[in-house]
Amino acid sequence: MTKLRSVKGMNDILPEEMPRWHRLERELTRVFALHGYAEVRTPVLEKTALFTHSIGEATDIVNKEMYTFVDKGEESLTLRPEGTASCARAYLEHSAGERQPVNKWFYVGPMYRRERPARGRYRQFYQAGVECYGDPGPYVDAEMIDMSVSLLAALGITEVRVLLNSLGGKETRARYREALKAFFEPHREALSAESQTRLELNPLRILDSKSLTDQEICQGAPPILDFLGPEDVEHFDGLRAALDALGTPYEVDPSLVRGLDYYTRTLFEVQTTSDELGAQSALLGGGRYDGMTEELGGKATPSVGFAMGLERLLLMMPVTEEPTTLDAFMITAGSELRSQTLVLAKELRAAGLRVDADLRGGSVKSQLRRASKTGARFALLLGEGEVARGVVQLKDLVAHEQRDLPLAEVARELAALVAAG
Ligand code: AMP
Repeated sequence: MTKLRSVKGMNDILPEEMPRWHRLERELTRVFALHGYAEVRTPVLEKTALFTHSIGEATDIVNKEMYTFVDKGEESLTLRPEGTASCARAYLEHSAGERQPVNKWFYVGPMYRRERPARGRYRQFYQAGVECYGDPGPYVDAEMIDMSVSLLAALGITEVRVLLNSLGGKETRARYREALKAFFEPHREALSAESQTRLELNPLRILDSKSLTDQEICQGAPPILDFLGPEDVEHFDGLRAALDALGTPYEVDPSLVRGLDYYTRTLFEVQTTSDELGAQSALLGGGRYDGMTEELGGKATPSVGFAMGLERLLLMMPVTEEPTTLDAFMITAGSELRSQTLVLAKELRAAGLRVDADLRGGSVKSQLRRASKTGARFALLLGEGEVARGVVQLKDLVAHEQRDLPLAEVARELAALVAAG
């Protein structure tokens, strides 16, 4: 049989990589909680219609990238390609808006898109995101953008720039759509086949095209900011003033459209300015989608959020020494003492100490080698002599010192040493 490998673009995260993941997850949970966000977990599988309705039929995600299947001939299901639609569904399904006027949620979990894998771009990838329901902004939008930059800074990622745009409300979008149609129509033949289809379905998507010819044509397109109505302008000005007050630098980029259909007004992306990630420079992106809950059949609810790719953040986070996951490693000199090692280990674990042992037996030398590989500061050696004297030998693997500890004192003494660092 040919060797089975993981699905293309879907990666294993091995135990030695986890301390960095945990550090990232701890930090983002901390920063989100500081801003009043509480965690929500939704299923990875949803009904396909949820995504076609909210993300939009003319988007790359819905057209080409979803993992969709018919469940036992009954209904079409899709592995979630992003978290916003699932959260909005859950928000409506559980009438969260009726219990609190403003709900601030965050999520972390795997997402699935059948993209071409590259560095920083995978088919299963992890996103953390936030959603705020019930506040029309723009102050909460500013708070969210500022929070994203603070989080990146807390992770040691400071080479960033914030791009900001406004897509206006429903009416603005409708007017802009017509203007874009009129602009692109004379160029129809020159546009890529994909953009010709977009011209019918959603001309805004053309601004997001990866084709160089399309991009050249887009250079002359009218900017959306010229189409904003007075309330949109007020919202955008308010957002910018709030960001200025917070001291969060940003650049207005009228060409920022992003790949999903559901945005209204605020749109932002935080990119890295280092070339570490090549074409995958977008660390996080989001915006406002005031129309989404209505689109999904619920009550209109102003909503704003963003999502960030955890693998990209990990690629950008500076390398730091991760703390060891063990306090002590136990060594048994004499295979017949292994039960005693087990009993002592149990006692130490009951005292909250992180302890492992080599229970295969083998030479003291090989067990010591394993002990130092684990990164544990201490080794505890139990041999015939120690048992006879009612002690265990404590070895400080960093200071290269050793001494005996009475068996009854090991847990207390070791705990004190670990606490003292
Ligand atoms: P989006 O949901 O497309 O707005 O993407 C938000 C963030 O998720 C991006 O800025 C990336 O950091 C990350 N992301 C999106 N697609 C992928 C992917 N295929 N692989 C890894 N990260 C991704």
